Amino acid sequence: MTTESAIETARAQLRRAVDQLKLPENEWQTLSTPRRILEVAVPLRRDTGNVEIYKGFRVQYSTTRGPSKGGVRFHPSIDMDETVALAMLMTWKCALTNLPYGGAKGGIAVDPATLSRGENERLTRRYTSEILPIIGPEHDIPAPDVGTDEQNMAWMMDTYSVNAGFSVPGVVTGKPIVLGGSLGRTSATGDGVAISTQQALIAKGINPLGATVAIQGFGKVGYWAAIALEQMGLKVVAVSDVQGGVTGFSSVSSLWDHFKAHGDLNAPGTEKLTNEELLHLDVDVLIPAALSDAITEHTATKIKARIVVEGANAPTTPEGDAILNDKGILVIPDILANSGGVIVSYFEWVQDKQNYFWDADEVKTNLSTIMLKAFKEVASTVEERSVTWREAALMIGVGRVAEAHRLRGLYP
Ligand code: NAD
Repeated sequence: MTTESAIETARAQLRRAVDQLKLPENEWQTLSTPRRILEVAVPLRRDTGNVEIYKGFRVQYSTTRGPSKGGVRFHPSIDMDETVALAMLMTWKCALTNLPYGGAKGGIAVDPATLSRGENERLTRRYTSEILPIIGPEHDIPAPDVGTDEQNMAWMMDTYSVNAGFSVPGVVTGKPIVLGGSLGRTSATGDGVAISTQQALIAKGINPLGATVAIQGFGKVGYWAAIALEQMGLKVVAVSDVQGGVTGFSSVSSLWDHFKAHGDLNAPGTEKLTNEELLHLDVDVLIPAALSDAITEHTATKIKARIVVEGANAPTTPEGDAILNDKGILVIPDILANSGGVIVSYFEWVQDKQNYFWDADEVKTNLSTIMLKAFKEVASTVEERSVTWREAALMIGVGRVAEAHRLRGLYP
């Protein structure tokens, strides 16, 4: 990790898109300013009876194209700057995939591994209660992110609904199916990362069948991407989590079985790798699917992969990005590569609003249609404007938000 912050990365990317689109300075000011930010104190009664106060955040970066939408992260290092950066990325991602949303993000500066289940529930409910005045199906719709899952979403939905006096499933996405969740949401981000990987390989003239992949992060994104890639006939040769990585496993599902039983990746027959060694493996595709700033000027120089598919949000700093570009490595940017999650979250919200639920095939087909369309648009912009895939994706996303701003005008 280096000193670059996600907010510096996000602002540098936006500045470049604004310059490339030749937008006037007043539009840079509008686009680079979050619409609404909220910091809350979240008191938690620990199981011991002690009361501790945690910092909670919710940033609604943009509501220009619709209600804001974005995940809730439980991680000790989350702060307001990082939340703003991630909410900004969500804004361009929703615009790039043409979803009728703005962008948001939230979280609590806490390590969920230090919480009992009861403590996690109380913290989640109190956080929901603190941000309750600004969320809702027509306002801002949270979802899971690092350190949260469908159980957290169930508690958030229940807290909101109890306060409303009736059931409001559309207030969050990524819920359990029985509470109005969508089939296919759990694996959606990983499925989308796999679609992106397949398309990137084709764009680079490499046969996806048998292509090799290394994945940093074995959580909701990394695990499901690994499963989907294996099903598509690619070879996942290495994965890692916060404790380090492994190679030499026979299949992702066998590694998962070991992980579930023992809580580590060191299945019999595997060989250990450091996270840095994983990044530098000679593979066709490297997928950073953990946290921000994994690929920096320090780690990028030794990357040998032909393609980087950004499963995580903001995993590459601008300096790292420049090195990858100089080396001719194709980078599929986060706002395209990991958009599968918010796309199926959108489907979940639509289903909740209509009280009519789709089957799994319909979800998968519609996910793939939206992702392939976004892929095609980005590829055309790369061709027409001679820019990188990241620049093209941002130009499309930022351009759409800027146009929406222009058309709505300024009130009063
Ligand atoms: P998660 O909490 O389920 O998993 C995170 C994984 O990263 C875990 O395996 C963890 O051990 C690992 N990890 C943490 N620190 C690490 C380190 N220093 N080195 C290597 N591995 C490390 O989180 P997730 O939901 O899978 O999210 C991962 C990334 O994808 C985040 O950047 C998130 O914002 C982004 N993302 C998630 C979704 C989603 O639907 N969950 C959607 C879009 C983007």
